[in-house]
Amino acid sequence: MPRHAGAARALVTRALAALLAAAGAASCSAAPGPTDPQATAPRQFVALRDVDATIMEEIRYHTRHNFTGEPVPGYRTPTCLLTRPAAEALHRAQRALLRQERSLKVYDCYRPKRAVDAFVEWSNDADNQTMKREFYPRVDKDRLFSEGYLARRSGHSRGSTVDLTVVELPAGRTRPYRPGQELVPCHAPRKKRFPDNSMDMGTGFDCFDSLSRTLDPRIRGEQRTHRQLLRDTLEREGFVNFPGEWWHYTYRREPFPDTYFDFPVARESLARGGSDRAPSDPSSSRGPAGTRSAATTPSPPRTASPGPPNSRRASSTIPLSLEWWAPRQYTWPQTVHRAKTS
Ligand SMILES: [Zn+2]
Repeated sequence: MPRHAGAARALVTRALAALLAAAGAASCSAAPGPTDPQATAPRQFVALRDVDATIMEEIRYHTRHNFTGEPVPGYRTPTCLLTRPAAEALHRAQRALLRQERSLKVYDCYRPKRAVDAFVEWSNDADNQTMKREFYPRVDKDRLFSEGYLARRSGHSRGSTVDLTVVELPAGRTRPYRPGQELVPCHAPRKKRFPDNSMDMGTGFDCFDSLSRTLDPRIRGEQRTHRQLLRDTLEREGFVNFPGEWWHYTYRREPFPDTYFDFPVARESLARGGSDRAPSDPSSSRGPAGTRSAATTPSPPRTASPGPPNSRRASSTIPLSLEWWAPRQYTWPQTVHRAKTS
């Protein structure tokens, strides 16, 4: 029937047009470019836990305990993803710290571009000042970008930048953030501000305040020593500190110096990885990328329970989820120390 045939033709035409448009969009997004979002991680990305299971992870943007007060878009799981060269450099730094009965603790690793975009959007919402008292008590929200505390593009999206601190072992007690709890300025003395088992660095993590400058002259004594310990340990392994934030380090020989990724923070982003559409050729990656397997480090444990003290199985029973470091004090680090340095 002509009328039906015409309708069918129109339907087919519309479907074809939609398909062509979709194909065009897909090919555009697949074309290499400095800021192209990508759905999956290039194969140079790893989960830090697979390279070093002893490094503590407290991925703040997966939780509500961050300057926005909400879990940040793109953080599907509390996982630290990094490029392999950066992760292996952290592993070397961790080996040095474990010999001193200390450990690294990461707060943020790879950060998808959509998360950075969410920060921009949040900054435009002048009414939302939920977390001001803790995270930016002395800076107006509308000045966080102009004063350099936030950026419209973050090095974290390149996968070789990490926010971290040092924890004295055995890790001390702390407790999870409870939404709605009374907030204390991040620049307050350690005993008053939000409890963190980090060594005292003079401010909390993500403290948008001039006291967070790594070498701020008002930071003295052991706080300064602790910042220097973190800096010396990481610089020795090829990281560079951002002078405005004691916690922010970038691996100098990053494999993707010009690419800002957008795949979600989740192990699944790696499982489907293997495509390498970023400008850098994986075979030309600088540093130790892809040249060493993770077999030299413990496998990620399957349990969140601590192993028995002094167990020789320590490396396979290290509790790793967010819960493990929060509520109790464990004796496992000494056994990890032996396992890792033997
Ligand atoms: Zn950072």
